[in-house]
Amino acid sequence: MKAVSRDPRYDILFEPVRLGPVTAPNRFYQVPHCNGMGHQYPSSMAEMRSVKAEGGWGVVNTEEVEIHHTSELSGVIESRLWDDSDIPVLARMVERVHEHGALAGIEPAHLGMGAANNYSREIPMGPTARPIDLLEPVQSRAMDKADIRAFREMHVNAALRSRRAGFDIVYVYAGHDMTTLMHFLSPTRNDRTDEYGGSLENRVRLMREVLEDTKEAIGDTCAVAVRLAVDEMQGAEGISADEEGRAIVEILADLPDLWDVNVSGWENDSATSRFSQEGYQTDYISWVKDVTSKPVVGVGRFTSPDTMVSLVRNGVLDFVGAARPSIADPFLPRKIEEGRPEDIRECIGCNICVTADFLVHPMRCTQNPTMGEEWRKGWHPERIAPKSADESVLIVGAGPAGLEAARALGQRGYDVTLAEAGRAVGGRVAVESRLPGLSAWKRVADYREYQISQMANVALYLESPLSADEVLDFGADHVAFATGSVWAGSGVGRTNRLPITADDGARIMTPDDICGGKVPQGPVVVFDDDYYYMAGLMAEKLRDDGHDVTYVTPAADVSHWTHNTMEQERIQTRLMEMGVRIVPLHNLARLGADSADLSCVYTDRVQTVPCGTAVLVTMRAATDSLFHEVAALSDDRPDAKPATLLRIGDCLAPGTIAAAVYGGHRFARELGEPATDGVPFRRELPALAQDRRSG
Ligand code: ADP
Ligand code: SF4
Repeated sequence: MKAVSRDPRYDILFEPVRLGPVTAPNRFYQVPHCNGMGHQYPSSMAEMRSVKAEGGWGVVNTEEVEIHHTSELSGVIESRLWDDSDIPVLARMVERVHEHGALAGIEPAHLGMGAANNYSREIPMGPTARPIDLLEPVQSRAMDKADIRAFREMHVNAALRSRRAGFDIVYVYAGHDMTTLMHFLSPTRNDRTDEYGGSLENRVRLMREVLEDTKEAIGDTCAVAVRLAVDEMQGAEGISADEEGRAIVEILADLPDLWDVNVSGWENDSATSRFSQEGYQTDYISWVKDVTSKPVVGVGRFTSPDTMVSLVRNGVLDFVGAARPSIADPFLPRKIEEGRPEDIRECIGCNICVTADFLVHPMRCTQNPTMGEEWRKGWHPERIAPKSADESVLIVGAGPAGLEAARALGQRGYDVTLAEAGRAVGGRVAVESRLPGLSAWKRVADYREYQISQMANVALYLESPLSADEVLDFGADHVAFATGSVWAGSGVGRTNRLPITADDGARIMTPDDICGGKVPQGPVVVFDDDYYYMAGLMAEKLRDDGHDVTYVTPAADVSHWTHNTMEQERIQTRLMEMGVRIVPLHNLARLGADSADLSCVYTDRVQTVPCGTAVLVTMRAATDSLFHEVAALSDDRPDAKPATLLRIGDCLAPGTIAAAVYGGHRFARELGEPATDGVPFRRELPALAQDRRSG
């Protein structure tokens, strides 16, 4: 039996904190974060937030909430509070958060030059007439005095509506280089010559007015928080923590009830572990508490309770802010409170959660397969139905899919055997986490390995490569193959539907070869037809090892899909600075013994570059031969045939680590449960229509 009371060292994290007229029950603060649910999937959003409140977050916020139809991000899913009709939608979230004793906060946002208004067809407006931030043929118009009056009124209305929805904390949001208030503050955005432009006092004017208006409207019953990017990470040109960022906090000092401070833009605020460590924002915000007497919250992918305690004790923060750590583990506070911090499922800093915003779908998480499924599938991050029968399960392969399946089936009470060919668990994460910058990814395996080590009903066997006969001889009721995948070396992929032509003497390697320690010869060409992180990492590693590296991709830039994880610019910059030669918009047409022909994707014009070894990053092939052998063999041995024989994770179809974890979890959830007829999850509009009919 595990300890059930918390370590007194962590008591300080559970102290209540007063925020103007309201009091937060503890210091765990889920800062506003996007989730791809918002106004399109509000039941999903409400339930996801509710689970976090249940997990012990003392404050649970919305994402940014558009306050007016003249500033809307159609194409991206945020929340909306355009008029009174939106109140009940958000009130649902508030009720669910309150049920668990947490405070509910809302982040009203006017996005000005950051929104194209493609749905409402209103002209965007901001401090200045400029092209908007999105790459669309749209310019903003400069706000005149009437616009400024209307803008202030929008914020007051949003605040009043927020209060009617039941929110305890209402933000005034100037962060992420995304909101009109931030645009007014910014010296590079605001070139007005009236009392709202020029000097810092003038640029802060609108912020101060909105803050004062909001306090006057609702400040007697709701806390009014300011979210400010104290550093735009633009050096001397922009707002920086040691100059204007500090001066803004000094000007507004004790006006808000809470300072929520971070850096902008979003890619700097939500930096990935590949480029930043836990606590990476602390240096930028550690002075804020010296300037204000009001509570301060900040973020930094905090998952260690000891770090949290030291931040509070050292007077850096009053609240431990978290977006991603609360996504990866909605029960993080509860686990500390119950004296079991070792059970925390730590965020790995991969930003798969962030991709949902760009790709416009409900958020998912590599570490937490239940994220986004709380309402539509009824999945809870901590609870799972007990087994439906006294049965045994054999899982072959202890990568992310196999580990998660074993963990979740173990939690259900099944008798689980996990057989792994290698000397350690982790599969691809064990390998990939040794690549430059990815060490935190190992947490995917570490969390699960520890959890199953605590379960008497889960047995793990390492160095146990199973043959088809051994699988059937084992006699498990259910068998799942989680045997993963290997990188293919033919060059077939998105661009090349046939293998790449290779002359005699051409040397081809795959990422598996490089990770396995094979050393390429001569100059290397890394061919990226995959577009996620692997080719960029291959180039980085090989360059680090001293090779002459040319990076070739049919895409317009390096690791193209990482635009969605907000890493692309950093990856490309790093490779360029390391001296990797980058050839975008080219296909690998032919490989010779010491050269490679690259063809332009538009003109087919060919250029030849030196190449001793080509590293092909195009596609992976499922390692599914064992599955097929067992399936065939079990036809000959019907008595030994398991009731379930299936593939999960990359063995079924190679994908992201998040998809493999989800695949393993889904198998565990569904084993022995009645099959769903039709769509295996609830949908918002049909559910709403049904509620109305039955209500
Ligand atoms: P996924 O991402 O789907 O979990 P991985 O490639 O990360 O897949 O993990 C697959 C794991 O399966 C690897 O650790 C590999 O060593 C193991 N494996 C592959 N074939 C066998 C086998 N025949 N018996 C046991 N383990 C195997
Ligand atoms: Fe953390 Fe990755 Fe999950 Fe986002 S998806 S919360 S970065 S583990």
